[in-house]
Amino acid sequence: MAYLRILPSLKSSTSVFSNRNKIQNNPTDTSLEEAHTLTITQQITWDLTELFPSITDPKVNQAIAEATTLADAFEKANRGKITQLSAEGLLRCLRDFEVFEAKFSDISLFSSLSFSADMTLPQTQALNDRVNKLEAQIAKQLAFYSLELGSLVKSKPQIIQEQALVNYRHVLERVHRRVEHQLSEVEEQLIIEKDQFGVNAWEELQSKWLNTRLFDVTVLGEKKTLSYGEANGLLPHRDRVTRESANKAIYGLLGKDGEVFSAALRSICNDWVTVSKRRKYASPMESSLISNDTQEGIIGNLLKTIEEGAGAYRRYLKLKAKLMDLPVIGNHDLLAPLPGATELKFTYQEAQNLVTQAYSRLDPQYATAVKEMFQKHHLDATPRFGKRNGAFCAGYYNGKSAYILQSFNGSLTDVFTLAHELGHATHDWYAARNQTLLNMNTPSTVAETASIFGELLLTDLLLDGTKSDEKRKALLCMVLDEAGMTTFQVTARVRFEQALYNSIGQGEFLNYKTICNHWTKSRDRIYGNAVTWFPEMEAEWTMKPHYYMANYRFYNYPYVYAQMFVYALYTLYLQEGKAFVPKLVKALSAGGSVSPLEIGEIVGLNVAAPDFWNGGLKVFERLIADLEKIV
Ligand SMILES: [Zn+2]
Repeated sequence: MAYLRILPSLKSSTSVFSNRNKIQNNPTDTSLEEAHTLTITQQITWDLTELFPSITDPKVNQAIAEATTLADAFEKANRGKITQLSAEGLLRCLRDFEVFEAKFSDISLFSSLSFSADMTLPQTQALNDRVNKLEAQIAKQLAFYSLELGSLVKSKPQIIQEQALVNYRHVLERVHRRVEHQLSEVEEQLIIEKDQFGVNAWEELQSKWLNTRLFDVTVLGEKKTLSYGEANGLLPHRDRVTRESANKAIYGLLGKDGEVFSAALRSICNDWVTVSKRRKYASPMESSLISNDTQEGIIGNLLKTIEEGAGAYRRYLKLKAKLMDLPVIGNHDLLAPLPGATELKFTYQEAQNLVTQAYSRLDPQYATAVKEMFQKHHLDATPRFGKRNGAFCAGYYNGKSAYILQSFNGSLTDVFTLAHELGHATHDWYAARNQTLLNMNTPSTVAETASIFGELLLTDLLLDGTKSDEKRKALLCMVLDEAGMTTFQVTARVRFEQALYNSIGQGEFLNYKTICNHWTKSRDRIYGNAVTWFPEMEAEWTMKPHYYMANYRFYNYPYVYAQMFVYALYTLYLQEGKAFVPKLVKALSAGGSVSPLEIGEIVGLNVAAPDFWNGGLKVFERLIADLEKIV
């Protein structure tokens, strides 16, 4: 059921909280030349009726009952029999499993979307809890399926090559890779049972803390008490003093409870070390390498290339200091807009038009999914209390579509987030039309292809429509800020996570200060002396949800991979023009049916080549050179 899991976006909600009383009244303008003020606050909420009429509708209970019946029937037909199946028998079994998963996906999606939209409503909490429990129960009931499937491909690996199973060949190859690490059925069941209120509860504790605390921030001289989402939204505020206040309020309060976060993270990491040993993983990262369908050598190469290329990022940060008239930038300037630049505000309609146009410029057909998402009202964009923080796109397989959640406050960053999430929706759109459900499970290395590509399409649309050097500077800085975070800071986060496990391996106790030390060391290897940090920033790691994700370690590096891969891809598009489009569509349509290596081959890129990642870095360097020309 990995396809249904909603991963927290790496992008934190960076939208501006302050007064949304501005409008830009030329919705078809593609440039940054016209920024006006907004007088209307639109309510953009998603329409989930395609899934279920309402949360209290009898169809909800009916779907739960049907999914339960299908799970029972699947168990009855297959338990104890899979290891003996012929290729044709296995084909039937895989198809039956897809039928069950498709049925369950609707209710699972509906409950998680309803809960994400408002986590404070008793009925969304109750349904979410009920479906989570059901999911855990069914996962336990059907644990035999992956165990027996594993035994089958382990004892008869030649079955993977049978013509009857051609649609599932890569799925089975991945099962084969994981099978060495599977435990017995009872052990797997016990892990699921104990994790539900064990390691999963540590994950929940961290998110509950963030969503229930209030932060005292001085906003443009006025004292305010804000929720985490609101305070976090002030981090890229145009006023430097406000940014300082928000940073210190957030990370100061997080740091006060540093030992609580340390207890959570320490438990999650140590739990993983224990589980990794039981499962015979060579390293705490191996499970993630298998999940991401990639190899240690490729990732090692990637991280090394980024660290060696961090000088380019520092060169940019020094350039930004110059643009901000500072000797050195502070950590609160990393995502800050340039001073004096006009604050750009967009209505939701304008954002919709810009993103649609950016996608259409590549190819009109390529924008179909984007247009459909708006027509079907599959987006929830209005900020509200109790709404899940950040942004995500969740695939809707049965509807051959997706749902997007974000908190849109009208900033340029919000427009980019929209372009990003609609890239995921586009990927889902192509994959759902060409793949069966088991092939929809794309690893994160590949899952970010269309989303990052969409951001680059938007960047070029905006740069082409902007004549003013000041605005080009502001836009290039914003793009480089984001790219710098995703590529370089995220590499620091990977090194941090590696350091935690090395530390545990050496018998070190991970208390708050020890964890902070690991973070600041990993961070400083990337940033050197190009940034000064508030002391509170040692607690920066405490707020990242992905460090706490139970049984999902090393969430970070696929994003670095994706960024560098898509940069290389975009260079190809610039070289090849329209001839590139069918290759991109083919790569997206493949979903998870082939490996990331083969996805690269579809478009003519070899990610295993030792110098491959340098190609992506060159795009980053070219953007800096563009900026240097106008500074
Ligand atoms: Zn994404």
